[in-house]
Amino acid sequence: MVSIEGLTKSYGDHVVLDDIALDVYPGEVVALIGPSGAGKSTLLRCINYLETPSSGTISITGEPVAAVPSKPTKAELLAVRRRTGMVFQGFHLFPHLSVLRNVTLAQELVLGRKPQEAREVALKLLDRVGLAAKADAKPMQCSGGQQQRIAIARALALDPVVMLFDEPTSALDPEVGQEVLAVMRELADQGTTMIVVTHAMGFARKVADQVAVLAHGAIVEQSHPDELFTRPQHAVTRRFLEAVA
Ligand code: ATP
Ligand code: MG
Repeated sequence: MVSIEGLTKSYGDHVVLDDIALDVYPGEVVALIGPSGAGKSTLLRCINYLETPSSGTISITGEPVAAVPSKPTKAELLAVRRRTGMVFQGFHLFPHLSVLRNVTLAQELVLGRKPQEAREVALKLLDRVGLAAKADAKPMQCSGGQQQRIAIARALALDPVVMLFDEPTSALDPEVGQEVLAVMRELADQGTTMIVVTHAMGFARKVADQVAVLAHGAIVEQSHPDELFTRPQHAVTRRFLEAVA
């Protein structure tokens, strides 16, 4: 599981995350919602140490990620990157490599898998996201939705403890976004643990086990979607839900 306690992140005097606590149990999907600038991306980026927290603890499967606030060592960074699979709004695929190579590279570099095994894992995952036929194409020859599904396959290839999604569909046309959300829903149904920053309220409502609302760096409300969407308690939640409706 992922366990976050007392997580704070500041840039100079600007407190971006203020004493965040969040537990994500194996197989759970947590949707993270809230207004722009609330700190959602920063929270995800602290979990995989793309940002170093200012204080607090983050542990993944019981192991603390690193002593906070000190900078993690290279070995700690590698360990945490192995345990988290990140999917960004903008895909971030390597444009000069084939789709297949995009999915095998980190397996070889980070996990030390042999090329043959990495290839088998990649082909299986590309099949799972419906893109086996694109293995030899370059990312630019794929649509935005396909590129995002490749990015999901790439993240899954490291067998992460938790998948972190930062607005994975907001750069896509709604229809294409639905393809990506369908893949994410299948992952959820198969028991993948995920934290998903999203404006796709239909997805949050149907798929999430917990919805957490972040505002000004703090979680102001957290509950099951049935509860949160029908009886939002906090003014920020009500305003946000009206704005995205
Ligand atoms: P959005 O919905 O627009 O993506 P968000 O909830 O993901 O917003 P963050 O990107 O986490 O918000 O940003 C939270 C706050 O932290 C913002 O005020 C932002 O300006 C600030 N911030 C983020 N990264 C940095 C940085 N590297 N240096 C300084 N301030 C930063
Ligand atoms: Mg963001």
